Amino acid sequence: MAQISVRDVTKVYKGGVKAVDNVNLGIENKEFMVLVGPSGCGKSTTLRMIAGLEEISSGKIWIGNRLVNDVPAKDRDIAMVFQNYALYPHMSVFENMSFGLRLRKYPKHEIVRRVQEATEILGIKHLLERRPRQLSGGERQRVALGRAIVRKPQAFLFDEPLSNLDAKLRVQMRTEIHKLRLRLQTTFVYVTHDQTEAMTLGDKIVVMKDGKVQQCADPMTIYDKPANKFVAGFIGSPPINLMQGRILKKERKLYFDEGKFQVKLVEDMYGVLAAYEGKEVIFGIRAEDIYDKLFVSQASPENTIRAACEVVEPLGSEVYLYLNSGKNTFIARVGAHNRPEVNRDMDLVLDMSKVHFFDRETEKTII
Ligand code: ADP
Repeated sequence: MAQISVRDVTKVYKGGVKAVDNVNLGIENKEFMVLVGPSGCGKSTTLRMIAGLEEISSGKIWIGNRLVNDVPAKDRDIAMVFQNYALYPHMSVFENMSFGLRLRKYPKHEIVRRVQEATEILGIKHLLERRPRQLSGGERQRVALGRAIVRKPQAFLFDEPLSNLDAKLRVQMRTEIHKLRLRLQTTFVYVTHDQTEAMTLGDKIVVMKDGKVQQCADPMTIYDKPANKFVAGFIGSPPINLMQGRILKKERKLYFDEGKFQVKLVEDMYGVLAAYEGKEVIFGIRAEDIYDKLFVSQASPENTIRAACEVVEPLGSEVYLYLNSGKNTFIARVGAHNRPEVNRDMDLVLDMSKVHFFDRETEKTII
C-alpha cells in the first residue's frame, strides 16, 4: 500500500513527440485512480513512467516516500497488468502466476500459499495445470491478475486490462475488478479509453487530452461539473449535446438564442452569464435533461422548444430520440413509454437548471 505522487512530469519521446506535458497527480493510499482519455492522449506513457518502464524527461515520481526516478521497474514494488495479458505461453497457469515469486527466491511453501489464495479469489483453482492457449480470454486475464496479486505489491497499475474482451465479459470483469479492489485494499492506477469503465471503477478520474490533465475529480463531479467542453463531451453516454448560440437580454431576463429557438436561463445563472450578454457561447445539455412535453406537468413556453424527431431508438428501459432543431441535431434520452412519431415536429422541455455554458474561445466552463 502506498500513495503515488507525480510532480511536473513531462515525457518527450525521441523524435520530439511530447506525449506527457507537465502532469501532476496525487494518488492516495488505497485509492482507485483512473486515467481516461482518447487514444494518444498520454495515459499509457504516464502509467509506464510510474511503473519504471519508460524514462521520465523531467519531473519527479514518488511511490510511498521513495523518489523512484532512478529506481528500476523491478525494484519499485508495483505490479502491472496489461491489455495483452503478457503470459508465458510455454508455462502452466501455476508457473505463470508464481514466476515473479520464484525469481525473487520466495520459499516454496509461501509461493504455493500465495498462488492458492489468489486462485481462490479469482475462481481459477481448476486451471492451474493448463497453458495459456488452453484458456479463454477472460480466464487469461484472470491469470494475469493472479500473477499481480501474488506479489502483494504496494500498488497495481492496469493498462487497458479489459480491452481485448468482448462486451459482455468486459462488464463482468469490471465488476470483478471492483470486488478485487475492495478485497485487496491497495492503491490502483487504471488506464482506459472507456468512459464507462472510468465512471464505474474510479474513486477519482483524471481526464487527459494531448498529454495534459484536463480535470481530476470524483466521477460525479466530472459528470456534473466538467471543467471544459472537452471533459463534458468525453464523459457521458450518449455524449452531451453542444450547440453554439448567443446570450440575449430581453426585459431584464437572459435567454440562450440558438438561432431556431430561445430558452430562458434560470436566475441563478444571471450573475455569471451577464458578462456574456450579446456574445456567442456554447450551450450544453445532457440527453437525460430533455423531456417530451407530453409527459411534463410544469412546462412553460420559456423552456420549451420545437424540433423534428428524426429517429426513435427504443432500448428497452429507455428511448433515444434523435432530434433536429433546424440548426443543430441533438439527442434526448426519455422514458420507455415515449413513442413520438418519426419525421414530425414535437415539443420538448429542457431542464434549464441542469444546462452548461462554455466559453467559445477558451472552451472552459462558464457555469
Ligand atoms: P494513450 O495511452 O493515451 O493512447 P500513449 O501514452 O500511448 O497514449 O501515447 C501518447 C503519444 O506518444 C502518442 O502520440 C504516441 O504516438 C506517442 N508515443 C507513444 N509511445 C511512443 C514511442 N515509444 N515513441 C514515440 N512516440 C510514442
